[in-house]
Amino acid sequence: MIHYPLDNLLPVDENGYYGEFGGAFVPEVLERNIKELEAAFREYVNDEIFRKEFDSLLHDYVGRPTPLYRAERLSWLYGTNIYLKREDLNHTGAHKINNAIGQGLLAKRMGKRRLIAETGAGQHGVATATVAALLGMECQIYMGAEDIRRQNPNVMRMRMLGAEVVSVDAGNGTLSNAVDAALDAWCRNPDDTFYLIGSAVGPHPYPEMVSRFQSVISYEIKKQLERIAGRDYPDYVVACIGGGSNATGAFYHFIDDDRVNLVAVEAGGKGCDTSETAASLTVGRPMVLHGSKTMVLSDEKGNINEAYSISSGLDYPGIGPLLAHLAATGRVKVLVADDDQALEAAMLLAESEGIIPALESSHALAALKQMSFQPDDIVVVNLSGRGDKDMETYLSVAGTKVGS
Ligand SMILES: *Cc1c(COP(=O)(O)O)cnc(C)c1O
Repeated sequence: MIHYPLDNLLPVDENGYYGEFGGAFVPEVLERNIKELEAAFREYVNDEIFRKEFDSLLHDYVGRPTPLYRAERLSWLYGTNIYLKREDLNHTGAHKINNAIGQGLLAKRMGKRRLIAETGAGQHGVATATVAALLGMECQIYMGAEDIRRQNPNVMRMRMLGAEVVSVDAGNGTLSNAVDAALDAWCRNPDDTFYLIGSAVGPHPYPEMVSRFQSVISYEIKKQLERIAGRDYPDYVVACIGGGSNATGAFYHFIDDDRVNLVAVEAGGKGCDTSETAASLTVGRPMVLHGSKTMVLSDEKGNINEAYSISSGLDYPGIGPLLAHLAATGRVKVLVADDDQALEAAMLLAESEGIIPALESSHALAALKQMSFQPDDIVVVNLSGRGDKDMETYLSVAGTKVGS
């Protein structure tokens, strides 16, 4: 069993700023909560008993460490060495459970009774409902009415796990509205409720906390590469970004290592030059969204534009402040993959490696085509989740090809 370090290796100051991004912009009623959360996090993240509980749940319940798999045929195709970090093999099918376990354990230690969370595609809702069941806590998941219609299997999963799914009718009934509703609910019940945020977004200390819980991904990559390739760092780490948690987790232990190229892949949707995109780093503006200053899809007047991507996990108008900072300073290279490129990459992985990726992860795979590699490069792609939830989309767009 791995004892994960969880150290703070982030370029964050005491006010939660990563360069010009971050901070904690919350209503007054939540200021005390945020302070209490930060104090509890700092205490327990250094507590050996808490850490052992985290380590053993990740091992026995989630199924970590996840394999670092050498994708032989993809490697041949791109003329280099491609490894997939198999976060798709985690319990509940994606990386989100790593963070949900960490925050769930923290909520329990803080004596909270109820977990609340927002969800778009339902993946984070399922992870949170799972952890609530595991730890014997009440659970309410806020979800846009439109998303509830689109993601019925995940809604049924959450209900079977004992969670109440609260429909949010405001706005266009998607993720951004669900976040607002969850923040509202937290304001109404600040004492007995823990808000479990699913990505490296939101007011400080959430982005730091989520990044440190997800850092298990790059810690394992280091150890696994040492064994497989004789050196504990790759030349490239490639990850898709919605709010930025799987990317942050996969980058974490390499942020200060200049030998490693970090590549974040945004969802271009129907193209960055259209209004139907989710590429907040490429076409966004700095402003405050959901508690922190970051890059946001918005117009000149500061109105937030709806995000669009074929993948509902990347369909978010913001991005975590750490990634906004790493992109602004040039440490992270940002690429964009659009809907069609992601679909094509998903089909390629399915046919060449026998793995059906989540649509989100397919954006990271699609970026390989835009890059060029040396034969002895080591390229790690973070395969953030599995594609079962996306079968309807895959079949509808590729219907004539699949089954022919
Ligand atoms: C939610 C999700 C994402 C996007 O969220 P990040 O916080 O950017 O990682 C990516 N992949 C999968 C499989 C997801 O479920």
